[in-house]
Amino acid sequence: MQYVSTRAASSAAASSSQQFSDILLGGLAADGGLFLPAAYPQVTGAELDAWRKLSYAELAFEILRKFATDIPEADLRALTAKTYTKEVYKNARKDENAADITPLRVLEEGKDGSKLVLQALSNGPTLAFKDMAMQLLGNLFEYALAKQNAELNIFGATSGDTGSAAEYAMRGKKGIRVFMLSPHKKMSAFQTAQMFSLQDPNIFNIAIEGVFDDAQDMVKAVSNDLEFKAKHKIGTVNSINWARVVAQVVYYFRGYLAATTSNDQKVSFTVPSGNFGNICAGHIARMMGLPIDKLVAATNENDVLDEFFRTGVYRVRKSSETYHTSSPSMDISKASNFERFVYELVGRDSDRTRALFHKVETHGGFDLSGKPGSDGDEFKLVAKYGFKSGKSTHADRVNTIRDVADDYGIVIDTHTADGIKVAKENLEPGVTMIVLETALAAKFNETILEALGEDAERPDGFEDIEALPQKFVVMKPEVEAMKAYIAANTGL
Ligand SMILES: *Cc1c(COP(=O)(O)O)cnc(C)c1O
Repeated sequence: MQYVSTRAASSAAASSSQQFSDILLGGLAADGGLFLPAAYPQVTGAELDAWRKLSYAELAFEILRKFATDIPEADLRALTAKTYTKEVYKNARKDENAADITPLRVLEEGKDGSKLVLQALSNGPTLAFKDMAMQLLGNLFEYALAKQNAELNIFGATSGDTGSAAEYAMRGKKGIRVFMLSPHKKMSAFQTAQMFSLQDPNIFNIAIEGVFDDAQDMVKAVSNDLEFKAKHKIGTVNSINWARVVAQVVYYFRGYLAATTSNDQKVSFTVPSGNFGNICAGHIARMMGLPIDKLVAATNENDVLDEFFRTGVYRVRKSSETYHTSSPSMDISKASNFERFVYELVGRDSDRTRALFHKVETHGGFDLSGKPGSDGDEFKLVAKYGFKSGKSTHADRVNTIRDVADDYGIVIDTHTADGIKVAKENLEPGVTMIVLETALAAKFNETILEALGEDAERPDGFEDIEALPQKFVVMKPEVEAMKAYIAANTGL
């Protein structure tokens, strides 16, 4: 399996193509584009039938081997078996089977044959769906680094979910250190405790005196020093990482197979979306031949994606125009994985993709509506890829959390509530709609309290997490001091 960049000059694409292991430890391609397979591997009906019986780990192996053709199969099988266990995904609700890894729950069956189903993806160590991919990434990194006898220092900034998922995936791993910046005293007490209570010697929590953007700017400044970056073997685990996207493809297959008994049944997915990583994996599953009907992107008040799927206009927001909402993991001003879909939409034309995303930098967006003066008319092709969208507000979230508790007897988190709200607007006769549960309610308790007047239940072991001893340093947003701190702790 060869990989190409969405921005590679067409003539260079063939010669510069890379294997899975080459792009595993990297982020952006050298030309600033994102990696995608040169062609999507296809899945046959017979394969789908055979996969119905598989455990999650076995299914993950079958799908990954189509993408990671340069990793010996026995090794890949061992890596997926170690990642997807009921011990790792032990935070399942009491009435769920943890061994299912991503258990389904039917919420509602309509007389017209429509169905509303929730797929739990947040039963891993940090109670958000990001564990599904990040846990595999931790094991893949450790494996790849051991082979090359190399080391990696992951350096990133987080406002919550990504940083904790990365730390829980990398803790105790050989050859890996994590330096994670977060805005001092700006995360919830629960999120802070999750990260800062880790005592592993390879985890470095750095609280920056400032806001998230200050932390993010520090990461950019250090990463722009290429000499420092190379010397200290600095890498990232942000949401554009291809291995993360491909690990997410697996649960779309799992959800489809668990919700159906034959391959002619129709299933749609609604996905609470921010950076377009999660739903991009659904798009890839569909391109591989999984019979997905619709892919519905649900956004909060930050509706960059909803606007595109309604109008064909992609208009990124300034950070001053980005709302801080009660589904904070979807508070984005631009969607960093969106380029992967746009590349497809413009017929895998890397010259057009490069020009369009150059326009995002210079003019804040582009317009594919086909109207006079627009940048193209490919918006008319969006339906062919099954995409739809919708948005939700704080009041919608609160009402949805309340309704779901009343009607179905479970407590959902704010992001999942955005998904349910939009899914209900997109139910169709004869079609099963699966909503991806992207976090557990305990992570976003303030809104649960507002909606239900009582605290969200915490999974076992999280009861007193805020009382655990915490390990972190506080630093000012000063680049040289940060470099000195990293250098002192990598010993390189
Ligand atoms: C990261 C995250 C999202 C958004 O996912 P994308 O892949 O960025 O679209 C939604 N909900 C939760 C809880 C998250 O942590």
